Amino acid sequence: MNMPIYLDYQATTPTDPRVLEVMWPYFGELYANPHSAEHAPGRAIEARVEEARTEIATLINAESREVVFTSGATEANNMAILGAGRFRASAPKSRTHVITLATEHKCVLESMLQLQREGLTLDILPVQPDGLVDLALLEQAITEDTALVSIMAANNEIGVLQPIAEIGALCQAKGAWFHTDAAQAFGKIPLDVATQHIDLMSISGHKVYGPKGIGALYVRRRPRIRLQPLFFGGGQERGLRSGTLPSPLCIGLGEAARIAAHDMTTDAKHLSHLRDRLLQQLQAGVPDLRINGAMAERLPHNLNLTFPGVDAQALLASVPELALSTGSACSSAAVDPSYVLAALGLSEADARSTIRLAIGRPTTADEVDRAAARLVSAVQSLRAARPAAE
Ligand SMILES: *Cc1c(COP(=O)(O)O)cnc(C)c1O
Repeated sequence: MNMPIYLDYQATTPTDPRVLEVMWPYFGELYANPHSAEHAPGRAIEARVEEARTEIATLINAESREVVFTSGATEANNMAILGAGRFRASAPKSRTHVITLATEHKCVLESMLQLQREGLTLDILPVQPDGLVDLALLEQAITEDTALVSIMAANNEIGVLQPIAEIGALCQAKGAWFHTDAAQAFGKIPLDVATQHIDLMSISGHKVYGPKGIGALYVRRRPRIRLQPLFFGGGQERGLRSGTLPSPLCIGLGEAARIAAHDMTTDAKHLSHLRDRLLQQLQAGVPDLRINGAMAERLPHNLNLTFPGVDAQALLASVPELALSTGSACSSAAVDPSYVLAALGLSEADARSTIRLAIGRPTTADEVDRAAARLVSAVQSLRAARPAAE
């Protein structure tokens, strides 16, 4: 049986074979607890985990001790937002206002709503029709009471890149801490916590050809960003995240970061070339398709497309040889149309006629050509079958 052509690399990526290779021994004979400092096997694993931590830190121009391992970006986002919000609200010079964007991932929005339930004031800012933050609006929103601003580096549905350095500078000027959810950006585009004034950054392993179940939170040391921990226990990870580290996964994420540092530029060239090829073929077959989100400020491997009058669920059902989705994996089971597309101003009908295409490191030109041909013919036959759909 032919494997479907995978076009859902923003939901998850396969673990790179080079990553699998370095992880194996740590599932087997190298099993000692990385926190067992009293014997040599424990210390050897710890040293290897610290190497991995350094690879992650290097990719974002951080120090390794600023990187805290988590189970993924969901946990990192919860830790950053709840941890910073609670710390600052209860500090002597209390700050009780937090800001985020309407197009953030659910785990950011839900963490922010939890802070609101705990008594903090929350502003959820709209985005412009191209999906980008309005910097003037953001500047007005940040006050001397603002504890935290959380704005993602790259969007998981529409792929747009927010102006992180500018946002960081606005936050710094008012003493607000800046958190960015970089689950989609880490390893794909250059990130620099120094020049982009980032205080907290969330990372996910399985979006960057690493294993599932591992991620990291960057926590700035100078000036010191302090968080109330979510977990209590043995005090691992500088007291921020108690619990035994999953050493094979930590080492896998380190290897994924090392590979990304090496391959990022060539990956991006390859991906943007294939992405443009895919778009051109789709536009040739469906001239009235619409692209959602800014095209210039965008991940090299994402497309988010509206096929007016075509039901996206029916479209997906008619191309079983393709693996793609209408939006984020977390909410694609829900019947509600995408809140991200609604924030861009799309009508409900257009949102229901929209798919996300995300290619990845293993994607070939042949796969792109076959996928485009299948999608074009599926759109044409759905339209022919339902001439009155619009
Ligand atoms: C995937 C994703 C998450 C969640 O990451 P997990 O590691 O799966 O918990 C958070 N934010 C964004 C933008 C994502 O794409």
